[in-house]
Amino acid sequence: MIICLESGGTKLVAAVAETDGELRTVARRYRRPGQEALETLTDLVEMGRELAGAETIDAVGYGFGGTVRRADQRPGPCFHEPGWENVDPPRYLEEAFRAPVFIENDCNLGALGEAHFGVRDTRGTLFYMTIGTGIGGGIVHRGRLLQSGALGEGEIGHVVVDETGPDCPCGNRGCLETLCAGPGLARLASHMLGSTVDACTLMQRFRKGDSAATGVVELAARYLGKTLAVTINLLAPDTIVMGGGVMTDNQAFLELVVSRTEPHVFPFFRNRTRFVLSALGENVVSQGAAIYAIQRLAEQKETQTT
Ligand SMILES: [Zn+2]
Repeated sequence: MIICLESGGTKLVAAVAETDGELRTVARRYRRPGQEALETLTDLVEMGRELAGAETIDAVGYGFGGTVRRADQRPGPCFHEPGWENVDPPRYLEEAFRAPVFIENDCNLGALGEAHFGVRDTRGTLFYMTIGTGIGGGIVHRGRLLQSGALGEGEIGHVVVDETGPDCPCGNRGCLETLCAGPGLARLASHMLGSTVDACTLMQRFRKGDSAATGVVELAARYLGKTLAVTINLLAPDTIVMGGGVMTDNQAFLELVVSRTEPHVFPFFRNRTRFVLSALGENVVSQGAAIYAIQRLAEQKETQTT
């Protein structure tokens, strides 16, 4: 049995999966206000143990909502929760579950989940993008996660699209995330419409054809389109999967984003990438955590026998 854990900006998730990756049970909990790293780990262990019962745990996969230092699996900078520099998650979780622990960025695991159990593309290159409280990305090539950087890759949310835009927690200004993630869309809407509208309401109005809402969403689609065109020029992915709260059941926005992406793509690469909404929704990271743990466990066993 595989234990899958996730800690993001708003929620904590624990799940159990079979050793072929199939998810069995998923539990969710909202993050308490002001919660720090050690409390998050304690909560995740409690949730995981409850689901596991007395069964033997083969491995633990953990999708962390921030950068992860590949060398020692320790969290790197995390913008939404303090205290990670004072804890040692791999050791803490290994001791708690008495099993090998594999930690990766949550969006990277989302990409892996979609490639294997969601929209399914394990032969080509898949780029996964999530638009929720933040914006993140992950790259899967032929069924394996691309892990080219010491601190990760695919940080599409921190591409600067407007140098005069809002301050981003990363230290730059006008990152894609500050304009097109849920809170960014709400900010853009209040700036352009002069009234407070959350991202969910904005998208509802856009889908009903409200012209003021469409103006805001159109600008967001242009920012996303330019960034995704660069992504296509760099990776020439077969599939781009868009997930996260803002994209949930939002085919209309997906189509608008595609129409604002393709004109900026290198002509030979144009109209060759399949754009789809996430097939796994809220389970995407847990599913990816299961696959990642299974793949890494197999790798470890292979190294031990050779
Ligand atoms: Zn940023």
